[in-house]
Amino acid sequence: MNPILQRITERMDGFAKEGRLRQLPAISNARNKYLQLGGKTLLNLASNDYLGLSSSPILARAARAALEEYGTSSGASRLVTGNNSLYSALEKELAACKGQEAALVFSSGFTANLALMASLADRHTLVFSDRLNHASILDGITLSGARQIRYRHNDLDHLAELLNRHHACPYKLIVTDSVFSMDGDLADLQRLVELKHQHDCLLVIDEAHATGIFGQGRGLAHELGVAQEIDLQMGTFSKALGSFGGYVAGSRSLIDYLINTGRSLIYTTGLPPATLAANLAALRLIQEDPAPGLHLRDLARQLCEHLQEQGFATAGSCSQIVPVVIGTNTRVLQLQQRLITAGIYVGAIRPPTVPQGTARLRIALRADLSEEEFNRLTTTLLEVLCA
Ligand SMILES: *Cc1c(COP(=O)(O)O)cnc(C)c1O
Repeated sequence: MNPILQRITERMDGFAKEGRLRQLPAISNARNKYLQLGGKTLLNLASNDYLGLSSSPILARAARAALEEYGTSSGASRLVTGNNSLYSALEKELAACKGQEAALVFSSGFTANLALMASLADRHTLVFSDRLNHASILDGITLSGARQIRYRHNDLDHLAELLNRHHACPYKLIVTDSVFSMDGDLADLQRLVELKHQHDCLLVIDEAHATGIFGQGRGLAHELGVAQEIDLQMGTFSKALGSFGGYVAGSRSLIDYLINTGRSLIYTTGLPPATLAANLAALRLIQEDPAPGLHLRDLARQLCEHLQEQGFATAGSCSQIVPVVIGTNTRVLQLQQRLITAGIYVGAIRPPTVPQGTARLRIALRADLSEEEFNRLTTTLLEVLCA
C-alpha cells in the first residue's frame, strides 16, 4: 500500500479504537426546534441557532427579496466585484451595534479569525491565548507564524505571570472567546482590559456565542461595559443570528488594514446577497428585542441548578451552553444514544475538541422552547443521567 494511504488507515483505526471517529450524522431536516435523524423526530438541543432565528419569517422574507433582486451569488471577491450596498449597510449597522468605528464582514467566523490573527500577528509577535479558545483562533495563530503562549483556561493570574515573564517583547496580543463554546463559561473581560493596559497589548475577543444573547444582543463586552476598551471584537452571524458569515468590528484603521492584508477576505468570493440581507434583518431583530436572549439565560440558569443539585458538573457554565461533563468517550456516546431514544438530540463532545477525560454532553438551549419542552428536557436528562 502507498505509505501515505497506509498511515491514513492506521490513524483512522486509532480514532475508531479511541471512540473518537467522527461521522456526519444522517440528519434529513433540522428546521426549527425539531430535527429528523434516521426516521426519528428529535428535539434539537445541539444547534447554535439559540434564538430560532434561522426559521424566522422576517429573515426569510429579507433573503428572498435579495435573492430575487441580486441573484444567487456575489460573483467574485469583495475586492473585485463581489462588494455591494448590502455589505455597506450591514457593516455600518454592525459597527454601531458593536460601538466601534467600523466593521468588516467575512465569509464565516472561521475565516474571520484566520484573517484577524494572520494579519495582526507575525513571527515577532507573542499571542497570549486562553487554552480553550476556538480552533479557528488557534489555526489563525499558527498561520501567522507568531509564538503562541497558552494560558490556563480563564486563569488570569497565570496570564499576568506570563505577561510579566515576556514584558520585553513589544508586540503582544491577548485573544479570548467571550463565551466559551464547549464550557459555556465567560471570560473576565474587565480584568483582561486591565491587563491589556498594564502590559500594552492588543486585546481581541471572539463573541461568536455571546452576540444576540448578552449585552442587549450586542455581546458580552457591552454587558460588562468594556466594549470601547477592546481593540477588535469578532463574531458570527451563524449562531444566535440564525444566518451565516463572520465579522470583525474595530477602529477604521484596523479594519482598513484587514482589507489590505486579510487573505481569507481577499482570496474568497463574497457572501451571497440573500445571506447579507438575512444578516441585516437578524442584526436589527436582536437589537430591537433583547427579551428572548434574557429568557434563554434564565432557562440555562434553571437547567444548571437542576443538574448541580443532582451532583453533575456543568463546567462553570453561565450561558445558554450547558455542558454535562461525563468523562469517557464511550459513556458520553452511550448517554447521547439514550437521549436520542427518548427523543432528544444533544451534542456528544469528545477530545480533541475538549481535553482528554472531559468528554461531555453539550446542551445548547434555545429560547423558543415551550415550558412543556423545557420540562421534558430537564426530566428526561436527569432520568438518563441518573439511570
Ligand atoms: C463557531 C465559532 C466560530 C466560527 O464561526 P463560523 O461562522 O461558524 O465559521 C468562531 N469562534 C467561535 C468561538 C465559534 O464558536
